[in-house]
Amino acid sequence: MCIFCKIVIGEIPNNTVHENDNFLAFHDLYPKAPIHILIIPKEHVDCFQNVPSGTMAKLTTFAQEVATKVGVDKSGYRLITNNGDDGGQEVHHLHFHMLGGGKLKWGHLHDETRKSL
Ligand code: AMP
Repeated sequence: MCIFCKIVIGEIPNNTVHENDNFLAFHDLYPKAPIHILIIPKEHVDCFQNVPSGTMAKLTTFAQEVATKVGVDKSGYRLITNNGDDGGQEVHHLHFHMLGGGKLKWGHLHDETRKSL
């Protein structure tokens, strides 16, 4: 069982922000911004590339509720998912990082800027 599935069943403790039957939002253990929440489906899906679109539709509303709950709905936030090896995904249970609480930096994420396709 993956680490986030263990969090869902309560085997590993978490700092819950918001929850419903389908999703859980909790504080990231190693925050990379003043507010850093992880949003996960309770059902195991390994990554964004394999998530059913119906799950994403429900997740949209849930993420908006999380933003309101932690107070970044008006100030703004970044919602990202790392998908697969090149995306830097370390936990293979779909999760979205909600980052906010301050002006976030934005810059090049790789030495090469563009690949011609
Ligand atoms: P990613 O690199 O996109 O797979 O992100 C995984 C995230 O999970 C990282 O930001 C970690 O800090 C976070 N993380 C790992 N284990 C835990 C945990 N037990 N509780 C909360 N966050 C965790």
